[in-house]
Amino acid sequence: MPWNRPLMIVLLAGLVAVTWWRLQPADGQIHRSQLLMGTVVEIMAGGRPTGQLEDAVDAAFAEMTRLDLLFSSYRPDSEVSRLSQSTRGGEVSAETAAVLALGLEVAQRSGGAFDLTLGRLKSLWGIDGDNPVVPDRQAIAAALAGIGPKALTLDGRQLSKQSGPLQIDLGGIAKGYAVDRAVAVLKEHGIASAAVNAGGDMYLLGQRPERPWRVGIQHPRNKDAVLETVQVDDRAVVTSGDYERFFEQDGQRYHHIFDPQSGFPARGCQSVTVIADSVALGDALATALFVLGPQAGLRLLDQYPGAEALIVAADGSLHASEGWTKYQVTP
Ligand code: ADP
Ligand code: MG
Repeated sequence: MPWNRPLMIVLLAGLVAVTWWRLQPADGQIHRSQLLMGTVVEIMAGGRPTGQLEDAVDAAFAEMTRLDLLFSSYRPDSEVSRLSQSTRGGEVSAETAAVLALGLEVAQRSGGAFDLTLGRLKSLWGIDGDNPVVPDRQAIAAALAGIGPKALTLDGRQLSKQSGPLQIDLGGIAKGYAVDRAVAVLKEHGIASAAVNAGGDMYLLGQRPERPWRVGIQHPRNKDAVLETVQVDDRAVVTSGDYERFFEQDGQRYHHIFDPQSGFPARGCQSVTVIADSVALGDALATALFVLGPQAGLRLLDQYPGAEALIVAADGSLHASEGWTKYQVTP
């Protein structure tokens, strides 16, 4: 069964379809990768002496490792796991509160399409394990009981669970937040040119030497084809797709983005790319738009003036927000 990790392709200006990890860094750039948060995290940085770049990139990876220990659902001792185990909630760290606050806002504005309380459902499908299965309807209904945008309330750093033993899942937003933090650490180390990519959650800082960053968005049904190329600086580019983590049963594709209304993988899209100021917001919006589908998704985006999106609908048709064209590179 294919578990296609790469979501995006970063292009050297002028070069087409060179995958990110096959890229040779330009003169003076360094390129490092680490397995983190269930994906390959890549950092490319330049514009400073190599020793300074190395220190900065090491510190950025250390920061992401620290956050994984806080947010992971797979580590029983993470803060999120402890919250999941508690029946009423409790006080959370400032960082977890920040991620929860943003996630809950997107949950509310998306009418519950984005949902931080889907943990039980995700475990039931076994979507991150070796033997994912289509669960029976009763089990799905049980996993959905009590979930939704009202199931969690946050007051400052106090999180309250309204309906008992909910499993919290930050999988749709935590990686984005971690990339934002990695970029902040790079900046603290004096880096002004970098790209950080956590399996399709990407931030492009400044420019490559003398050239703007360009990101090729992978075609969701042809991994060797670039659907579109965008040019950005100091922006997040985040893609959620149904081709990254999925299994097939009886000819049907089951992937890892769930529609909380049905308890099944959302059916409206093949992929959604969001360009936003922060990766955390882009991450949450890409997941939310994926669940909502093109029409309702673009309506949600109207509430986020700084964000733009390109949606590939289930039938392969393309739907872009009005401001998308300002990032498009004309071939
Ligand atoms: P990726 O992790 O591949 O970048 P996403 O950002 O779309 O992709 O996140 C998918 C993950 O988000 C799932 O693995 C799961 O943990 C979580 N998730 C699934 N469905 C939803 C949803 N409707 N709302 C919020 N999170 C979700
Ligand atoms: Mg997401």
